[in-house]
Formats: sequence, C-alpha cells, structure tokens
Amino acid sequence: MAKQMPKTPLLDQLETGPWPSFVTGLKRLAKSDKGYADMMKDLLGQLEHSYETRKGYWKGGTVGVFGYGAGVIPRFSEVADKYPESKEFHTIRIMPPAGMHYTTDLLRKLCDIWERHGSGLIAFHGQSGDIMFQGSTTDNIQPAFDELNELGFDLGGAGAGVRTSVSCVGAARCEQSCYDEAKAMRMSLNAMVDDIHRPSLPYKFKMKFAGCANDCANAIHRADMAIIGTWKDDMQVDQKAFQQIVKERGRKEIIDQVIRMCPTEALSLNDDDTLEVDNKSCVRCMHCLNVCTKALKPGKERGAAILVGGKRTLKIGDQMGTVVVPFMKLENDEDYEGLVELARNMLDFFAENALEHERTGEMIERIGLSNFLEGVGLELDLNMIAAPRSNSYVRMDGWDEEVKKWNARSKSAAE
Ligand code: SF4
Ligand code: SF4
Repeated sequence: MAKQMPKTPLLDQLETGPWPSFVTGLKRLAKSDKGYADMMKDLLGQLEHSYETRKGYWKGGTVGVFGYGAGVIPRFSEVADKYPESKEFHTIRIMPPAGMHYTTDLLRKLCDIWERHGSGLIAFHGQSGDIMFQGSTTDNIQPAFDELNELGFDLGGAGAGVRTSVSCVGAARCEQSCYDEAKAMRMSLNAMVDDIHRPSLPYKFKMKFAGCANDCANAIHRADMAIIGTWKDDMQVDQKAFQQIVKERGRKEIIDQVIRMCPTEALSLNDDDTLEVDNKSCVRCMHCLNVCTKALKPGKERGAAILVGGKRTLKIGDQMGTVVVPFMKLENDEDYEGLVELARNMLDFFAENALEHERTGEMIERIGLSNFLEGVGLELDLNMIAAPRSNSYVRMDGWDEEVKKWNARSKSAAE
C-alpha cells in the first residue's frame, strides 16, 4: 500500500509567500505515481521534523562511481528509522556545457534518466555550476552515471578540489562579450581534470568566466579565480545611433540616466547630442553600454581582467576578487593557452601553500598579495590599485638610498 502524505504544517507556510516554493515541487513529486513517490513523502516528513526540532539530520559518507574519486555527494539520514524510504539521498554532480546550452531533447533525456534512477529532482544549476541530480540510493548511482556518461556528460567536481566552473552565455548570444568564455572555460577545465575527479587540494578552487563587467556568472564574489571580460582601447561609439537615442528619450533623461550615472564622470553630452567619452577615465563598468546598446560597444582590443580570492563569505569576511592581471589579451589560441598556464600556476601555488580548509582569498590575506604574485610569476601593475592611499603615515627609512639611486638615474639619462 502506498504511503500516506505526511502532515507538514511548517513546510506548508513556505508555500504561502508570493514566490514559487520548492515545497510545492517536492509535494508534486510525492503525489506522483512514480517509483520515487514514497521516497519524496519520507523526505518531506524528515524535512518537517528538521523544522520542528531545528536540526539537520543528514550525514556524509563514501559513495562514488567507478574510476572517479569525487563528484557524488553522499547523504545518509540519521532518522532512517522514522523515514526509511529516504534513508539514502545522494546527489550526483554533472558538468554542464559551457554557457549552459541545451536542446530540449537533451533536457528530456536527462529528466528521464533521473526519473528511472533517482527522485526526479534536478537543480539547474548548483552554485559551482554543476547540474545537481538530487536524491538517489547508493545502488542507483552507478547506473545513473553510466547513462549520463553515455549522453556525453562527465562527473563534476566535489569536495576539496577544482569545482565545475560557470561561464556566462557570452559570445554565443551576447553583444557585450569580450572573449570566448566557453573556450576559456573548456580549455581551463580540460587542463585540470585530475584535480576535479581525484582532488587532493587543501580546499575548493573555483573558476568563473564572465564576458564583461556585467558579470552574469557572479564571478567577482564567488570565484577563487575570476576571468572578467574587458577592453583596452576606446569604446566604440556610433554617434548617429546615439543622437537617435537622445532624440527618442530626450536630453534630460540621457543626462540623468547615462551621463550622471557614470561612476568616473567620463561622459559628456555635446550640444549636437553626440557623446564625448574620456576613455582614460572610463573604468569599463558597463553602465552606459547597457543603457545605450545600439550606440555603444566595447572597444576592439578585447580580453579579460583576472581577479583572485573572491568569496562570500570567507572566515575573514566577505571578499570581492582582487585584480592581479588588469588586462590579458584573449584572441588567438596562444592567448588562451597563456590563461590556462596562469590558472595552473595559481592552482599549484594554492595546493602547496594553502592551509587545510583555507580558500585562495584567505591564503592571500595570510601570506600577502605580493608574495602570491611572486609565487605565481606575475608582475606588480599600477592598474591593480583602485585608489591611491589616503594614509599619510609612511616609512621613511631607506628614502635616502632611494634618492641617491634616483639622482644617479637622472644623471645617466641626462648624459
Ligand atoms: Fe553578456 Fe557580459 Fe552577461 Fe556575459 S557577463 S552574458 S558578456 S552581459
Ligand atoms: Fe562611465 Fe562605465 Fe560608461 Fe566607462 S563604461 S564611460 S565608467 S558609465
């Protein structure tokens, strides 16, 4: 006889808000006539029990698939005596295609596989970018993976290793894209397959690829290495198109919404409704390009800025990534290989120097940015500095020596 739906007064409250609730989704699966319905009923029961007691009842363990050391997140219930059908509720992490492009046919096949071997519950996508196939028993993990693998998918990263990356939809569809994010992501991950499948790092390492500073991959605050597209030369301005925008929206709106919103006051509107851009002051924030898409485009010399150490939240607090390469040209294969080499250097340095359970941002905070830069072979660059220091107290020992060196240099230059 089929199990009864559990009573879930606390979970029910989560369905009363204005947004779709995951509880409704779980109930739909529990009420279905599929083989996993009882598992989902017990899962709801356990969740309600957790809400009542304010405790989680999942513990880890060791579950894997043949030939891989990571990629499955094991979950065993500590209250299996009360909720036996959901006593095992493991998750398989599967690497998605770069830019998250799927055909509907493929999505249906993925859903069918998980209806056969799991709970029917899939998250597109987890924080690390993986497709999260949630809720399977130990016995079903291997057959599920085999079928997913036959479709061409590989297991994603889990644990203290290189995690599956995220790239924005980028060059495939977006006019703001400044490099080929899918290519950069695929090349970087291919060079780190061992650290994804058989991780032996002190802690996680995540890379995220965004085609411009709009950062649709949320790279800046959640990637150990963020690759964010930008350009080096002047932005492209189609003055005729800009004049048309001014005509349609009026000078006042353009001044309020575009010119005055520039964070570095790099824009001015001429009397004839053309735009003047002080490109040296522009910090490539993307605002004006976003609101005047037909008239403004990134420059022609495109590439990416590399930032390290972002994460919300680290043990040392919330950290945005720190710029370590202000501009890296990404045009030909050689440029992309340079990016992969830098990523490899950063990963090796992290593997050798981070403490257990320490992310890149915490390691840099502990050892100092200059030591990190030296360790990965990067030169210091003035463009890494967001603003000059405002503290007037400086060490003056050694200045006399520097003055002598400066005088000697000036003298030899004059000769
Ligand atoms: Fe487009 Fe930029 Fe968003 Fe990527 S990050 S999808 S390039 S707007
Ligand atoms: Fe100003 Fe940002 Fe436009 Fe640059 S991209 S000109 S900083 S609004």
